[in-house]
Amino acid sequence: MRTLIEALKTHNYRYYVLDNPILEDSEYDQLRRSLLELEEAYPDLIQPDSPINQVGDIPLSAFTQVTHDIPMLSLGNVFDYDDLHGFMRRVNDRLSDAQQNPEYEMELKLDGLAVSLKYENGHYAQAVTRGDGQTGEDITQNAKTIRNLPLYLRDAKDIDLLEVRGEVLMPKAGFERLNRLAEDKGEKTFANPRNAAAGSLRQLDPAIAASRPLAFYAYSVNQGLPDSFDKIDTQSAALAWLGDLGFTVSAVEVIANPRAAQTYYESMIETRDDLPFEIDGMVIKVNSLSLQQQLGFLSREPRWATAYKFPAETVMTRLQAIEWQVGRTGQITPVGKLEPVKVGGVTVSNVTLHNFGEIERLDVRAGDMVSVHRAGDVIPKISRVWHDQRLETSEPVALPSTCPVCESPVILPEDEALARCSGGLFCPAQQTEALIHFVSRRAMDIDGLGERWLISFFKQGLVKTVADIYDLHQHTEEMITFEKLGEKSVQNIIEAIEASKKTTLARFIYALGIRGVGEGTAQNFAQQFGDLDSLMAADMDALIATPDVGTITAELAHEFFRAPHNIEVINSLIEAGVHWDKVEQKSSSDLPLDGQTWVITGALSSMARDEAKAKLQALGAKVSGSISAKTTALLAGEKAGSKMAKAEKLGVKVVGEDEFLGLVRE
Ligand code: NAD
Repeated sequence: MRTLIEALKTHNYRYYVLDNPILEDSEYDQLRRSLLELEEAYPDLIQPDSPINQVGDIPLSAFTQVTHDIPMLSLGNVFDYDDLHGFMRRVNDRLSDAQQNPEYEMELKLDGLAVSLKYENGHYAQAVTRGDGQTGEDITQNAKTIRNLPLYLRDAKDIDLLEVRGEVLMPKAGFERLNRLAEDKGEKTFANPRNAAAGSLRQLDPAIAASRPLAFYAYSVNQGLPDSFDKIDTQSAALAWLGDLGFTVSAVEVIANPRAAQTYYESMIETRDDLPFEIDGMVIKVNSLSLQQQLGFLSREPRWATAYKFPAETVMTRLQAIEWQVGRTGQITPVGKLEPVKVGGVTVSNVTLHNFGEIERLDVRAGDMVSVHRAGDVIPKISRVWHDQRLETSEPVALPSTCPVCESPVILPEDEALARCSGGLFCPAQQTEALIHFVSRRAMDIDGLGERWLISFFKQGLVKTVADIYDLHQHTEEMITFEKLGEKSVQNIIEAIEASKKTTLARFIYALGIRGVGEGTAQNFAQQFGDLDSLMAADMDALIATPDVGTITAELAHEFFRAPHNIEVINSLIEAGVHWDKVEQKSSSDLPLDGQTWVITGALSSMARDEAKAKLQALGAKVSGSISAKTTALLAGEKAGSKMAKAEKLGVKVVGEDEFLGLVRE
């Protein structure tokens, strides 16, 4: 317990006073929970200086200290549905029979710092931080520079003293900009937007605070709620009133039971990444203000509200090793092997490090403590390396000089970020990756012949090149002997291989795995040349004349179709019966969306995004990943987030799924 107390004290001081934590919040929460569990198990041993019931930390003495009229407390936490039930049960236990199962309301738990504002007869008079809950720092001058903080409330001119509390936060975009600037200047960066907001607000020079992108979100009226407004008897009505007065208020949802709370909570986990600022959970509050008063407070937190925390999206763990993988076209990419850790509810043990340049940029070494961030379905990445916790024995990472699979020399072309194995198709890693690519859904789409079996067949010598796949039917006896691969599965694989023979020219070109030739380029080649022979015979000029094909891709394709080995494989495939319908070449200016650029966002209910993209391209449109003023239209599915807002801002036309389907059908 003593060890935990000392650790928590240090971390509190770094977090609340210095705005410079050295732990992720999830790690801190774990330490705090450990101490809490010990205190619950051994109440006799609770130490007088335990920080468990403490709010924040002592305020910075550089500011004038202000005692709060009403203490500013923290919030209790719940982490799952059972905890939430427990919280509601404890509320019910304190209410009379007639008051059971009260109405609740839910708000975003904004990840900034709590500030109390005072207005005298409508005029902004004072801003104070929460501090240790009893005493805070006077930050009136700094808070005044927050752009959305109203300095005069016309409709509150008759209220002598109005106290409004809320959160000062820094939007994600502003935070990233600030850290980038600091990085460029070689200055210290902030660990997260919450610390950046606190650090900015507690600057001695208000000009610095003024230059920081801060925002204020109001969440409670603590003094001065007008009696005459007898309609304001709930938290949700008080927030609506604050909105009318001119404050920014975040989303509010009134809910009747724990199920509804859970549903709203889960929907916010889905959309949190689309919000312009960070939230670390939801706050759930008893809606009736008189019941709030009746329920009152525990030492550190109200009994009528709690925070329903989201699973941590950023956690700390150790990077145990950096391994090098060889891709289909020989690219050598570093992969970070982590001490397995749960992020956003999923156990993660690998992170991509992209390329050697990324390792240098992060200045990361095997053995370092790192923060791993996983938002939505995105592959986790290292968001921070904790350099001050580096092991003395660690060594800088070097690019391997030979391929980890075939030991051919590794080359790092000057104009490319990626190092490559020079072994080409001699390298088994490149051979297997080429096979996996060939059968993949968007290439030849050979269902049932997954990565695992392909690698086994490769190791057994059944397939070496993609052409050998079409000879597999001669090896069914051997295939059946493979572990867990029964007669039926073998039959399915053979049928899928047979079915894949009828394809399209674009898919076939893509499946060949020519470096630089993705699906879009393959489609353009098919359109441009109409048949395989013309493409294979094309000279550089003809290749470059293809839409969206630059010199590098043209050179790579040219080289590919000159290599005897590749020609041999292509011929075998055609001999085996791979075929496609004649390509209907359209002159691009005939296509209805010629010259247009589209962007897709959100989830479409009738098809996958890839499919929608292919359909748009078939109509002549370019499909881009990001919106700009040049974008013609945004195809928006369900839960469209930040792109939608951007489109509206830029005046880009937004097309719904129904309209899009109409267009595709025409
Ligand atoms: P808290 O942030 O968990 O909850 C209380 C606070 O929530 C309030 O003070 C208020 O500022 C805020 N809040 C946001 N939206 C609100 C809303 N709609 N209604 C009411 N309040 C709202 O508690 P805390 O005591 O401020 O801080 C604990 C947090 O700080 C934890 O997340 C903890 O991990 C972190 N912490 C981290 C370290 C570290 O070293 N990393 C150290 C100390 C604390």
